[in-house]
Formats: sequence, C-alpha cells, structure tokens
Amino acid sequence: MLVSERKPIEEIMEFIGGERTVFLLGCDGCAAASGTGGEPEIRELKAELEGRGITVTGTKVIDFLCQKALIRTGLRPFATALDEADSVVVSTCGIGIQATATVLDQAVHPACNTVSLGGIRGEWQGEERCAECGQCFLDVTAGICPLTACAKRLVNGPCGGAKDGSCEVEPEARRCAWEVIYERLERQGRTNLLRRAPLQVKDYAKMQPPVDLRGTRKWAVDMKTTEGVTS
Ligand code: SF4
Ligand code: SF4
Repeated sequence: MLVSERKPIEEIMEFIGGERTVFLLGCDGCAAASGTGGEPEIRELKAELEGRGITVTGTKVIDFLCQKALIRTGLRPFATALDEADSVVVSTCGIGIQATATVLDQAVHPACNTVSLGGIRGEWQGEERCAECGQCFLDVTAGICPLTACAKRLVNGPCGGAKDGSCEVEPEARRCAWEVIYERLERQGRTNLLRRAPLQVKDYAKMQPPVDLRGTRKWAVDMKTTEGVTS
C-alpha cells in the first residue's frame, strides 16, 4: 500500500493558479484507505475549492488509479466535464497521479504527498514508480517523477548528458526523463513552469530513507536486478 497525505488547500490553490475550472479525481484503493482520495475526501475537497471560487466540472473516484485501463474506462463518461476543466486535481499517491497524467495528457495537479510506509509497497503493472518523497511536485513536471524516471534523480532539470533524447546512464534502456517532461509540458503549452527558480527546493528530510530497502527482494523487483540482493 502507498500511503498518501492531503496537501494543504493553499498549496493546491497555488498549483491551480489562474485556472478557474477543475475536474476532481480520487482513488478507492490506497488513497481511500489513507483517508485522502475516497468519496468523502473528494466531496470535502470539492467544497473547499468551490469555497475559493473554483468551478468543479465533475468528480470521479476510480477503484485503482494506478491502473491506466481503469482510468480510461472510468473517465469515458466524463469527456465533456474533462474538456470543460482547465486542469485535473488528483487526490491520490504518486503512482496514480503519474498514471492519470499519462492517460489524460492534460494539466494535472497533485492534491497529496506520498509518504513512506517504511516497508513493503504493493506491486502494480505500470511503469510508474514513486519514491515516497513526502513532497510531491508532479505539478511542475507534467506528472512525470524525476526522482524515479531520471537515473540521477535530478529534480532541477537535466544533467546535460542526454544524447538524441536518451539517458546517458542507460542509453539503450531509457529516454532522458527531462526530455520527456519538456516534451509533455510543451504539448500542453506549460513550459513556463520550468522557469520557476529554483525549480525545486527539495526537502529531503521528508523523504524516509529508501536505503534500507536496497538489497531486499522488493528492491530487486523494482530495479529488475538480482545484483546486491542480500535478504
Ligand atoms: S514527487 Fe515523485 S517520489 Fe515524490 S511523492 Fe510525487 S511521485 Fe512520489
Ligand atoms: S540524461 Fe536525463 S534521465 Fe539521464 S541522468 Fe541525465 S537528466 Fe537524468
């Protein structure tokens, strides 16, 4: 299970910025269990946003937002409400926010931080990974997490080593995460977000050390390697 905590409404409003209409999305899986993304929490978030002058064009709670097929089918009846929304506010873990951003390819704002459970996480079939950093900033990275998608976990932009869009660390295996972030932001007309300086002031104190997970079978599954497995 991935544990999420609701961000303060002020931070969500900062993400929304000058937008006036949003669609709200929750998750009936880990987020509902965490008390962040179930029906009651989405109703509460809707009231908070409406109280601040934001129009909510629609809401939906999907069984598991980490499953892209469920997102597609769950949101099919909401095409008009999604079209009418300037952005989508997603109240769930980092995986669900990333999966939503990939499926919708429109501005997505995280309403939660994902925090470490300090142990085993659920496994899911998608490519998205969350490092449970406790300070989700997928808002400015078009829903792509550089902490897991970038080989060097850079949060302030690319290292400069990418060649033809491929990551210099694993050119055969992965594209440069920051190239992918830029391309998606450009498609959405939101590259201005990258001008925030410094882009991220990351509070690593909020990140429970994943180091103790290294060398475990769970780490091996995530990294698709058996190298260094000790337990
Ligand atoms: S920024 Fe990345 S690691 Fe941090 S909570 Fe969001 S998805 Fe997870
Ligand atoms: S090439 Fe891109 S993905 Fe690879 S380490 Fe550098 S910034 Fe990260």
